Amino acid sequence: MGRAPLRSRATGPARWRFDWYLQRASGGAPPAYINLEPTNRCNLSCKWCVSSGAREGGLLDLAIADGIIQQAVESGVGEVRFFLAGEPLLHPRIGELVARASSRGLRSVIHTNAMLLTADRSRALIEAGLGEISLSINGIDEATVREAQKGADLANMAEHVRGFLAARRAAGRNTPRVILQIIQSPLEMATPLPLHRLHMLFGSPGPDRVLRLAPHGWGGQLDSSDVVIRGTRYHACQPLWQGMSVGWDGRVFLCCADLNGTQPVGDLTRRRARRLVATNQRADLPLCASCDAVWWKSHPLVHDIRRGFWRLMGAPARRVRLRTGKR
Ligand code: SF4
Repeated sequence: MGRAPLRSRATGPARWRFDWYLQRASGGAPPAYINLEPTNRCNLSCKWCVSSGAREGGLLDLAIADGIIQQAVESGVGEVRFFLAGEPLLHPRIGELVARASSRGLRSVIHTNAMLLTADRSRALIEAGLGEISLSINGIDEATVREAQKGADLANMAEHVRGFLAARRAAGRNTPRVILQIIQSPLEMATPLPLHRLHMLFGSPGPDRVLRLAPHGWGGQLDSSDVVIRGTRYHACQPLWQGMSVGWDGRVFLCCADLNGTQPVGDLTRRRARRLVATNQRADLPLCASCDAVWWKSHPLVHDIRRGFWRLMGAPARRVRLRTGKR
């Protein structure tokens, strides 16, 4: 992670955003979070995922994790996201990984398909101080989920989610925050999501937030007509400024879209990548050259001000929030 200037974690998110608005390629803030991959192995095969198996499969070693977490703390990073490619719950010591981040004051997040979210794992994650669990369940009926996530079983996933929510209640906590993320084609998204079906599956009140997302292009790796370009204005993507992606073997990759490790980077390459993306000279970066994360409807600052306004007006109270894309 290069030099590690001591910085206040509280100012991290605001500082990276400031750098990103200004398109500053070097210096500036540490990333707000790191993706730290427990494993790149997966128990499902999903329609919207581009993980190809090109990287050797493996598990994050706890000693490597300790070193990275320590560097993250010293650099002023505020959050560890225990996922990149693969299903994090396949790591036999996932609870310990989370506990190591929490005990050093880092917020921890897991993104899982919930197939392995058994009662024991749920308790372990809650006790370890997990900050957020994001559930990848791409549909609300069996046939759709089976088609979108080969090997998945919606009844099993839903039972695990209800169990996780019950375990959180039993522990008397509001955390981990539970986010249900449903990726759907633009055609599927045209139909409103029936809330009664969500409650039937996941109980009531159910997950804290439901996000419906259209598939993104994974840096041009997903060849699908369902990937929609969201705007016509060029502005650098967020991931190069806001996050850092570390594979299970400790290698750093260009961004969270690089599931197959095509662009391992060091700190200097990262600065160069920022400069090239900020100035729209992406041809030298194969992953970025056809990425859709750089197209916006308006300047990101306008986008953020508008979003902040709607939050102030009470938008967070809405239980189902419709979003498209990564931001
Ligand atoms: S342009 Fe796309 S692939 Fe490149 S760093 Fe940004 S999000 Fe990742």
